Amino acid sequence: MTSQTFSLALPAWAEREHNLLPECLPSLEERMAAVIRFSRLNIEHKTGGPFAAGVFEKDSGRRVIIGVNRVMDSNCSSAHAEVMALSLAQKILGQWDLGSAGLPAYQLVVNWRPCVMCYGAALWSGIRSLAVAGSGPELEQITGFDEGPIHPDWKSELEKRGIEVIDNILTEDAIQVFRQFRDEGQIVYNARQGSLPDEKDSHCRL
Ligand SMILES: [Zn+2]
Repeated sequence: MTSQTFSLALPAWAEREHNLLPECLPSLEERMAAVIRFSRLNIEHKTGGPFAAGVFEKDSGRRVIIGVNRVMDSNCSSAHAEVMALSLAQKILGQWDLGSAGLPAYQLVVNWRPCVMCYGAALWSGIRSLAVAGSGPELEQITGFDEGPIHPDWKSELEKRGIEVIDNILTEDAIQVFRQFRDEGQIVYNARQGSLPDEKDSHCRL
């Protein structure tokens, strides 16, 4: 029988690191510093790309979860840090909509502007706030990742939907991890790395 379920998990080191963090991270800089630390640990442990994202209660800074990129270990191209963090937060909180009535406002903190897929995931998640370390071309220029065709007015499109956007938090610290990733020569797992398949190989065999 073919597999009909799949699951994604954070690496083992993430549980230890979560246990070292305080329950609340009141300032945005503290939240971003924790997220950037997870992004660095992810490449140092070779458990994924240089990306991390955390879900926090916006006002108190109470930590829900910090996720990291798990694409290659999971054989799942959508296992980006934001998808990991949002999905785990929804599971922990028992809510598919983090913006449900009666919940505190939730904030997603990411070590760079989301890719085109995670932009959509953020929009669908119910978060009320997105904080990023930066949003310029540095990430793609330094690492070679293709973040996709983001909407030119991506910030105002989020704000139109009640999601505030905060940019440029600990930008240099985030960039330092991207440089470390590049200097270590780790795999840039963009899609379509092979050549196009031959026409004769693309049919089901009878
Ligand atoms: Zn992404």
